[in-house]
Amino acid sequence: MIDPSFFDEGALVAVLTTQPLDRALDYKAPEGGCHLGAFVEVPLGPRKVLGVVWGPGKGDYDYAKVRSVLRVLDVAPMRAEMRRFLEKAAAYTLTPMPAMLRLATRAPGLGDPPSMRKVYRRGPDEPDRMTDARRRVLDFLAEYGDLSFTLKELAELSGVTSSVIKGLVKQGAVAEEDSPRDLPFAPLDPNLPGKELTEDQDRAATHVAEAVRAGTYGTTLLRGVTGSGKTEVYLEAVAACLSAGRQALVLLPEIALTAEFLKRVEVRFGARPAEWHSGATMTERRRIWRMIGQGQAQLVIGARSALFLPYQNLGLIVVDEEHDTSYKQEDGVLYNARDMAVLRASLLGAQVVLSSATPSLESWANAESGKYTRLDLEARFGPAVLPTMKTIDMRAETLPSDRWVSDTLKRAVDQRLEAGEQAMLFLNRRGYAPITLCRACGHQVGCDQCDARMVEHRFLKRLMCHQCGETKPMPTVCPSCGAEDRMAPVGPGVERLGEEAVKLFPDARVAVLSSDMYGSARALKAEIEGIAAGGADVVIGTQLVAKGHNFPNLTLVGVIDADLGLQGSDLRAAERTFQLMRQVAGRAGRAEKPGTAMLQTFQPEHPVIRAILAGDEEGFWRAEAAEREAAGVPPYGRMAGIILSGPDAAQVFDAANALARNAVPLARVGAQVFGPAPAPIARIRGRHRVRLLVKAGKGVALQSAIAQWVSQLRLKGDMRLAVDIDPQSFY
Ligand code: ADP
Ligand code: ZN
Repeated sequence: MIDPSFFDEGALVAVLTTQPLDRALDYKAPEGGCHLGAFVEVPLGPRKVLGVVWGPGKGDYDYAKVRSVLRVLDVAPMRAEMRRFLEKAAAYTLTPMPAMLRLATRAPGLGDPPSMRKVYRRGPDEPDRMTDARRRVLDFLAEYGDLSFTLKELAELSGVTSSVIKGLVKQGAVAEEDSPRDLPFAPLDPNLPGKELTEDQDRAATHVAEAVRAGTYGTTLLRGVTGSGKTEVYLEAVAACLSAGRQALVLLPEIALTAEFLKRVEVRFGARPAEWHSGATMTERRRIWRMIGQGQAQLVIGARSALFLPYQNLGLIVVDEEHDTSYKQEDGVLYNARDMAVLRASLLGAQVVLSSATPSLESWANAESGKYTRLDLEARFGPAVLPTMKTIDMRAETLPSDRWVSDTLKRAVDQRLEAGEQAMLFLNRRGYAPITLCRACGHQVGCDQCDARMVEHRFLKRLMCHQCGETKPMPTVCPSCGAEDRMAPVGPGVERLGEEAVKLFPDARVAVLSSDMYGSARALKAEIEGIAAGGADVVIGTQLVAKGHNFPNLTLVGVIDADLGLQGSDLRAAERTFQLMRQVAGRAGRAEKPGTAMLQTFQPEHPVIRAILAGDEEGFWRAEAAEREAAGVPPYGRMAGIILSGPDAAQVFDAANALARNAVPLARVGAQVFGPAPAPIARIRGRHRVRLLVKAGKGVALQSAIAQWVSQLRLKGDMRLAVDIDPQSFY
């Protein structure tokens, strides 16, 4: 019998590499042959590169000249399901396969033999001379005879210095051995008791657990206000999945991947799951990647790219905070992890749980149409109730132009401070001031590389471009008219709001939370945890505080500028504002004390502000859905963004115009092209950016039409074209 998934030595195989080539290349299978899906090292020019055996070779090249696979790496071959997933994801996002493969191999040294470390256990001999310290080590090892320890662990646990252990090794009383670093993860126990669920929660948990046990594909939208127990519910689905012997993945926005959350999972299952995030060390990444491939990690808690790990038997994907914009990767491969999770699960016969207090309109519509099952948790768990929502009409407040906290809001904060509670002031703007302006000539300082204003960061003592990260010192002389000492900050950022709060609340401890003020995500999380534990009275924050942190003593949230999100030309402006305001408001009153949210606005009668206030979620979604349906935009129509960029503006525009004129492949499927227009940010890092927008009906095979369309264009020189299917942001 011929095994179609094995290639004997010398047989031609097509190898997909991570190098930017437009197809898989033929190689000869190495000595001993290789499996379909095997990870291999192949020669490419003078280099050795990583690849995967993707299928039989094409054989369209002189056999004698075909080179051989150098070696097969010692890792589990890529499964057929994973290969199909990468192909489908590539076709959906119009991404070249090598880039997809890079996403799936984001762990260094995959093929290297596991690196070793020294471990210590009881040896066969007795020491010539016994001391107290030696006694302690040997007693300890006698008790834990079946285990081995690192030098550091053994020294600490038995309370001796490492030289004592080294001495015992010399005498053969302790044995020193090499052990691989890539250890399997400790087994999780799905049978530990979870929390006792409320009726609502139990109904939802039973539903998702049964769906997981059925072992078929399905997506469930789990909706419930912050604190209603969505996490408790989906952990039951995870338990059902682990019990069925399958692996589970919980995706979280990076910032929500906190120690608090991991601890909760550890308590539920008795051991730590694998954590996949940007802060993981290279060794840790490699360990996770390999162990998942061998089925020796049951549960991964991870940020978006954890979706591309080589699971052997994935049964459940949870996407927590499914509406979160960070699931869309905005550079490199432009994919939405939420949508790709649904794709991957459908190929696998796995379940997806999308969890959110404020689902995206896409998911809401999919639930309405019956594509997804919808489960609602109605109440907050325990005594916590939803915050009372109020608006502050800023037209009636008379604030000087350099102040942002109204008297009404100030009084409310004062009350909380007197009661010994926390208050939060929310402003979704990093830095000190969004604009730096010359009072003599009106010049605004912009970035030299981008079409963006420079934002003053007092904390860093510099101006910064939020597009490219370029910084420069704060000018004392106007770069335009030369006037001296006339540069002034205009408008508020969180740092400036912090200054105002210190003046308004002189006896309070004020803390400003902004992603750029801490060296690392870890430092920021530590700071947030400290504040939640009572380390500050007034917390000032950007949107990152809206993401899943629990502030038990927080009873007031003041939104400085509720109108901020309503202004953009973004199709999702209303949706985003609605979600953000609801999330921020959800920070207040999570424990026993009721909370209040106050929204400062100049448009209290705006439909979005009114819907937020009324808490009329279904009403908001229905109105928003009707508007988008009438306009034929997502999720009731399809969109794609095309961004052309290059160093020469005229050349980029010419190319975009040429594309727009020759849109026959699009017209054939009834799709329309808008533009070209300068992208909202017309220049980033010195590259001019021009945007075309494609709109099509819902059932249209948009990707193949776009692929055909853009393939007509020959990109000259340093010009680049990026296709963004289902664009989330319009920059
Ligand atoms: P969500 O994910 O909807 O924000 P959580 O699952 O985090 O809600 O629940 C909010 C808080 O209430 C958590 O501290 C959680 O442990 C607690 N909680 C929720 N449901 C229960 C329950 N049935 N029994 C005990 N504690 C619960
Ligand atoms: Zn810039």
